[in-house]
Amino acid sequence: MRTESLRRELARRPLLCDGATGTQLQSMGLAPGACGELWNAAHPERVRELHRRYVAAGADLLTTNTFGGNAFVLGNHGAAARVRELNLAGARLARELAGDAAWVLGDIGPFGGMLEPLGDTLPEDAEKAFREQAAALLEGGADAILVETMSDPAELTLAVRAAKSTGAKIVIATYAFQKSAVGLRTMMGTTVADAVSAAVTAGADVVGANCGTELSLVDYEKLTAELVAAAKSTPVIVQPNAGSPILRDGKISYAESAAEFAAAAPRLLAAGARIVGGCCGSTPEHIAAMRAVVKRSA
Ligand SMILES: [Zn+2]
Repeated sequence: MRTESLRRELARRPLLCDGATGTQLQSMGLAPGACGELWNAAHPERVRELHRRYVAAGADLLTTNTFGGNAFVLGNHGAAARVRELNLAGARLARELAGDAAWVLGDIGPFGGMLEPLGDTLPEDAEKAFREQAAALLEGGADAILVETMSDPAELTLAVRAAKSTGAKIVIATYAFQKSAVGLRTMMGTTVADAVSAAVTAGADVVGANCGTELSLVDYEKLTAELVAAAKSTPVIVQPNAGSPILRDGKISYAESAAEFAAAAPRLLAAGARIVGGCCGSTPEHIAAMRAVVKRSA
């Protein structure tokens, strides 16, 4: 039911996604480099608070706190055996706070290594890990799966296929792009057109970009136009960072203010984006400012 309503609303009006999870949890006390997914079990009240703030900001889409919730990344924190538990809990927390006010995107990030032949991970092992994660997210009530911050189209393809084969009706897939001498590329050197083509071929229902540490909001406008041209009829999502991280007096801050985010939102929509939100450094204030300009009525 909720999947159908999400599909319908996406066709009808632009949707607003939430902002950062990781940097927000760090502001609540998560140490940089620590495993945020463990908080779904250890500090559910803090994860609830994060979701509550984004619902209050007016987000249409809530992202689960499960970005690194695959067996590879959790394994680095000694928690490879807790994939189902932590993803199930993450999805349930977001679902609980979303209520009827928002849809829940079950978040899947990269597995953290390289696939063969560049690395030593077999594609079937990565796909199995993504399937395990997606299954728990869907069981916990995720309305769609978000595969994000990918650099390698082959890895994104595995994750999208894993989500679909596990029963996800809607899969959103995004890459992190960066500037290069020859234009916008993923870290693996993939062009926007090739990246989008791989995502659509894999079965993604929505494609786009998130994160991208060096990209300004103006860069994101250009990126959006490139994505839309490549995606053709497939809807496009963009989730910029709040500028580049700035280290000052041992504290990380981000350059783009909530007002700058809100000013950029209409330009991103005019460039053809159908879902806008924020990545690293964006806060409930950024999303609330965007809500003021991204109307709920078409
Ligand atoms: Zn990010």
